[in-house]
Amino acid sequence: MKELRLVFLGPPGAGKGTQATRVCEALGIPHISTGDIFRREIREKTPLGVEAKSYIDAGGLVPDSVTNGMVMKRLSESDCKSGFLLDGYPRTIEQAEVLDSFAKPDAVIDISVRDEKLMSRLTGRRECPECGKVFHISALADQEKCPICGAALVQRDDDKPATIRSRLDTYHAQTEPLIAYYKAAGTLHEVDGEADRDNVFKSIMAELGI
Ligand code: ADP
Ligand code: ZN
Repeated sequence: MKELRLVFLGPPGAGKGTQATRVCEALGIPHISTGDIFRREIREKTPLGVEAKSYIDAGGLVPDSVTNGMVMKRLSESDCKSGFLLDGYPRTIEQAEVLDSFAKPDAVIDISVRDEKLMSRLTGRRECPECGKVFHISALADQEKCPICGAALVQRDDDKPATIRSRLDTYHAQTEPLIAYYKAAGTLHEVDGEADRDNVFKSIMAELGI
């Protein structure tokens, strides 16, 4: 087990979540997805969830004042002492600066995919509410049903076409500048996210020297 603080950067639909799950299993570190945390808070209708929902539904970002505190609290938990993988954070320069002052990442993996590809990946994305697995309709014989557990698949509210456009705009305006930020810090590793899943995984492990 290696002690590593990792950040996964990339546009919505790049495959961060899928790859993060695999890398965390391989390394035995916690997978911290801010999107997943927000969605859980929304389901449970907590005050944080209620506040986050309006921003998420509009395809924008939850304000740094809310997000930073939530992430720093999570990173203070004991399982993060042996390393962690952040998926979906930081998404702004301010968030990156807050993270640097708390725990500088050892490596930042940028998973790049062009916008044309992202649109079809996101509009076709379905999630199983029971087992949590994510699928693309093109790979499903029955587009309504989870091939693993049989539950009815759902589409994330923010995967509707109008919201996807806003999320991509938000990504380019606010998150993409982090590529230059981490390049300057010397911790950036770029991976081609348009390759198939296994090859993306292999490239990530190779970049990490594992
Ligand atoms: P994706 O990477 O597919 O866009 P996520 O599941 O990572 O989706 O995030 C869903 C939404 O949650 C984002 O569009 C954004 O509104 C909000 N969100 C997630 N992480 C952050 C963050 N670090 N800062 C602000 N908002 C965030
Ligand atoms: Zn399922």
